[in-house]
Amino acid sequence: MKYQVNIGLEVHVELSTASKLFCGCSTKFGAPPNSQTCPICLGLPGVLPVINKKAVEYTLSTALVLNCKISRLCRFARKNYYYPDLPKNYQISQYDEPLARDGYLDFEMNGKPRRVEIERVHLEEDAAKLIHGEDTQNPEDREASFVDYNRAGIPLMEIVSQPELHSPEEAYQYLVNLKRILRYLKVSDCNMEEGSLRCDANISISPQGEKLGTRTELKNMNSFKELRDGLELEVKRQSSLLDRGEKVMQETRLWDSKNKRTRSMRSKEEAHDYRYFPEPDLLPLEVNEEWKENLKTELPELPPRRYQRFIKDYGLPPYDAGVLTDVKDLADYFEKCVASFPHPKLVSNWIMGEFLRLVKKVNLPIPQVKVSPEQIGRLLKQMKEGTLSRKLAKLVFEEMFKTGKDAEKIIEEKKLVQITDELKLRDLVEGVVKENKGAVNDFKKGKKEALSFLVGQVMKKTKGKASPQVVNKLLKERVGSL
Ligand SMILES: [Zn+2]
Repeated sequence: MKYQVNIGLEVHVELSTASKLFCGCSTKFGAPPNSQTCPICLGLPGVLPVINKKAVEYTLSTALVLNCKISRLCRFARKNYYYPDLPKNYQISQYDEPLARDGYLDFEMNGKPRRVEIERVHLEEDAAKLIHGEDTQNPEDREASFVDYNRAGIPLMEIVSQPELHSPEEAYQYLVNLKRILRYLKVSDCNMEEGSLRCDANISISPQGEKLGTRTELKNMNSFKELRDGLELEVKRQSSLLDRGEKVMQETRLWDSKNKRTRSMRSKEEAHDYRYFPEPDLLPLEVNEEWKENLKTELPELPPRRYQRFIKDYGLPPYDAGVLTDVKDLADYFEKCVASFPHPKLVSNWIMGEFLRLVKKVNLPIPQVKVSPEQIGRLLKQMKEGTLSRKLAKLVFEEMFKTGKDAEKIIEEKKLVQITDELKLRDLVEGVVKENKGAVNDFKKGKKEALSFLVGQVMKKTKGKASPQVVNKLLKERVGSL
């Protein structure tokens, strides 16, 4: 690659507070259009904003985790522009006095540590949502545009990185790691489809060793993959311009996901175009040491540290630790299971296998799972002691997952008790030995798979109810006596 790539990301995160940033309106997603509005978020004359403390705390917690310097005193600013999604004709944002600045995010890139500097973290209000022509529900609305003010005034945190991500893949990994942390902090659900996480990128290229080139801004990427694809195309587009001796224009470009290309939207505006000035309706925001310290003590253990601890304390393979610590709720759930059944690898196998399979099938958030970690512990205990075969345990677990009932109760109700009675099983073993002479000979020659096959045949005859341990023992005895 003859050009050095420099990418900076501007990530907008809708904070998961119950109410908006400056009024009491609900922030719940999916309500009928314009049903969550009031004179304040509609920008009617004479109203005054009151700041949402929780939104400030979410922003502060994020800034702390991103190792930022927190401003002791900061002011909000009016960003003036006229657009239908902005009822006041200005957005309350932060300009030269952000809540926090000069932090960094550490993550791993191809197994190597990578540190990316964070320029600033600030708090602002979201704009309303515009719905145009082809995205509307009714065919007769195709010529119209609609505006939904439910989104106007939702707290929005902006996290701006320095332009030091050097490839689209690195930008992608930065965003994956940032999102994981935000979800651990529970400051946002980071749902990209619902717009709670949005990402703009600025990107420039320059011949190796030279200063930064002219940058373009890329908008409208609706998934992590689209971000990477859009950036890759933009690197190619800029490279071919420079190859031909042409110049890159400073402009904003839109990612067009249908046609997989980027197109020019407007030449880039400058900060002075917005006529920023301090918001006169809000007092400066003061963050004292005590508030900061209190928030620090409430921070959760974050994914990188938890990942290391899972490997060290539970003896889990790195893969397991990665899956289990990806989401805080899952990691919490796993630890509670282990507390009631202290066999981490068995628990991990079950959580990564059966548990996540069912969770993903119905797309259920972990806190809504009906089975308690203690119930899983008791189920796994039965499996370990051999009173429940793996196959039956799976069946029982499916029922537990649906109803939240105890394993013991389901086993009783469905008459799923294992057959451990040797007398009953001996006849079945005898039959299987007679019917499968080939496999019996293979087993006698020392082929272990032949034994598994024979055990499987007995299990089949009992519809999975035979105890595999007993069947194993009986088969070994029987074949040994031949
Ligand atoms: Zn409101």
